[in-house]
Amino acid sequence: MSDIASIIGLVGTATSSIVGATEATKNLKQIFSRAEVDLTASKQLILELLDKLIEAKHDQMAIEEGVLALQRELQQRDEFQAELARYILTDTGRGAAVYRLKDGDQSGEPPHQICPSCAANAKKSILQPSLTRHNCLYCPACRAEFLANIGDASAMIVSVQRSRRDWSDF
Ligand SMILES: [Zn+2]
Repeated sequence: MSDIASIIGLVGTATSSIVGATEATKNLKQIFSRAEVDLTASKQLILELLDKLIEAKHDQMAIEEGVLALQRELQQRDEFQAELARYILTDTGRGAAVYRLKDGDQSGEPPHQICPSCAANAKKSILQPSLTRHNCLYCPACRAEFLANIGDASAMIVSVQRSRRDWSDF
């Protein structure tokens, strides 16, 4: 993940490369302004200038990549904020807070809740009834559990149904 600090660091590096290239160009101008041109010194300065320009180009590409990554990240955050606006932070009825799909949502999705911890990281994770704990929701992504009054979808009902099916097999 890119961040502003790393891009600022890259800009600093690029700036020093450009300053180096500018210095090399100044020195080259001085050499060529003399009556007798020192070919050895001018060749050395041209090589130095090329090195600085290659460094500056490399730094510029790294900055462009960083800015693009940052733009993608910001776009993803914007998209997630729009998605999160469809939900409301609500109490599960047992003291836990989760995001619940707002009443009257037009998407046609069935009622569900999403994980607040994952939402804080701009990630949507739909909570599922726990298979091991009664009246509990869990997040498949971060494994967080939330006490909730979920009735029929609870682990106890699921296990009763399973045991009934198991008996009928005999
Ligand atoms: Zn989660």
